[in-house]
Amino acid sequence: MSVSENRLKDNYRRFSNEKLMRIASEDAARLRPEALVLLREELATRGLAEVATKTIEAQLREVSEAELTEYCALIQSQPCPTCHSAAQPLNATITSTVMSFLVMTTWKKKFVIACPACLDKLNHDASTTSVLLGWWGFPWGIIRTIQALNFNSKMSKTNRVAYPNELLKAFVLTNVGRIEAVRHAPIDLQGLIKATQLS
Ligand SMILES: [Zn+2]
Repeated sequence: MSVSENRLKDNYRRFSNEKLMRIASEDAARLRPEALVLLREELATRGLAEVATKTIEAQLREVSEAELTEYCALIQSQPCPTCHSAAQPLNATITSTVMSFLVMTTWKKKFVIACPACLDKLNHDASTTSVLLGWWGFPWGIIRTIQALNFNSKMSKTNRVAYPNELLKAFVLTNVGRIEAVRHAPIDLQGLIKATQLS
């Protein structure tokens, strides 16, 4: 075993279970093959081999259409992280908010998963904030505010569809490992969904 592999092995040994599982669920696809072997070995010595294998494999293999549908349905059936209602299937949007301060104009985009009513409200609030605080920066405040209003209006068109929209599918595809790790733990799954609002 090379020096760098020994060092990596030591590192993995020092990490907590949570940290190792986070690597397994988020970074497995980016690890070198030899690093992945070491990670699997360390998880196995801690009795976490089974759940880790599923998590790692979920990231390494291509997700089939059927699996994508299943993961999306799982997310859509959770209660809304904002209003806690489970009456409508969840979906995703991106809000765009423009704010101007003195000569500076900031333009922020935010991905969020919530129920249709909350998604509409979030897009609407982002537009309202942009109109109130964004427009007066010259010239970018005006330009960006118009862009933000168009953007929020376009995004909100798929807030109320019953099927998973493209944004939700993209979220699932980039987070398959993390979703697989918590699919049987509703509280953790809801935490993962809520975390999208905080990022
Ligand atoms: Zn809601």
